[in-house]
Amino acid sequence: MFKALLVEKDDEGKTSASVTEISEDQLPEGDVTVAVEYSTVNYKDGLCIGPGGGLVRNYPHVPGIDFAGTVESSSDDRYKPGDKVVLTGWRVGENRWGGYAQKARVKADMLVPLPEGLTTRQAMAVGTAGFTAMLAVMALEDHGIKEGPVLVTGAAGGVGSVATAILANLGHQVAGVTGRPETADYLRELGATQIVAREEINETTKRPLETETWGGCVDAVGGAMLARVLGQLQYGASVAAVGLAGGANLPATVVPFLLRGVNLLGIDSVMQPYDNRLRAWQRIAKDLPMDKLEAMVRPATLADLPQLGADILNGQVQGRVVVDVN
Ligand code: NDP
Repeated sequence: MFKALLVEKDDEGKTSASVTEISEDQLPEGDVTVAVEYSTVNYKDGLCIGPGGGLVRNYPHVPGIDFAGTVESSSDDRYKPGDKVVLTGWRVGENRWGGYAQKARVKADMLVPLPEGLTTRQAMAVGTAGFTAMLAVMALEDHGIKEGPVLVTGAAGGVGSVATAILANLGHQVAGVTGRPETADYLRELGATQIVAREEINETTKRPLETETWGGCVDAVGGAMLARVLGQLQYGASVAAVGLAGGANLPATVVPFLLRGVNLLGIDSVMQPYDNRLRAWQRIAKDLPMDKLEAMVRPATLADLPQLGADILNGQVQGRVVVDVN
């Protein structure tokens, strides 16, 4: 038997999450069983710990969309007991049991070997949020980052914190948008040189084009903010659309695409091909300063997760939560 955060649904459709003992034969089918060491809390985890947000189909459910740990047993040649591994994506923790347990069983194709130079704890300090921030930076680089500040929206959140630290370390000026002015010192510590108040950029405007300001943008917010950013990008610059913390609608015009040649780049971490996953993890090990990563970390246990799930849905989590499942 081992510990897991189990979400159950009652006859009235109400969900509740609690730490429970489960047995190995309850784990889903898969080729690799992993002794989980750390997991984390992403926005989607908040949904899956709570009412499900349409992501979870079957209950009881073990959430946790990412984890890092040590292979315990494997029927796949690529992994052997003792190997350190990381998992993000593939809808683990949504439509199959995830990382909020001391053991997880997955398909070998879903795993990535822990990159050289990272511990399992650091890998989960990065987590899906940080991995996605790296994918976003790579996409911006592929399209060319212009001179001048790169904007990061939702800067004090998970994606935003890691994007800020990576971009600053790569030598870019970083402007962080936050709705929490009290996080300004934290963002400066991560490398932001400019703090933009959320209200300044959150309102819709009738002007499709504003002053050309940003050399690129990592956007975790979406909605009206993304629409504003499109009109503020420099000629030929790109925004990597990662999230929808501020809404899924995009009240924009096509004018910035037609008159400024700006690019809207979609970022998906869930179905990323293996080679690009490896590339992103290797870049993280190289380009994310570990002291800055540590400054983002808030430690937690399985028992803290119901509260943390609610907090992240309310935009109240700063940086990255690292859950020690043991
Ligand atoms: P967090 O909650 O840690 O960060 C989101 C941040 O957005 C908040 O901290 C806050 O930043 C800001 N924010 C929250 N609500 C609003 C609002 N109403 N208007 C404007 N800003 C707001 O979440 P993550 O960083 O983990 O994830 C960010 C987004 O990215 C989520 O939507 C998530 O689903 C998505 N995501 C997408 C992935 C993909 O594969 N495409 C992978 C991972 C995440 P501040 O307080 O600084 O203003």
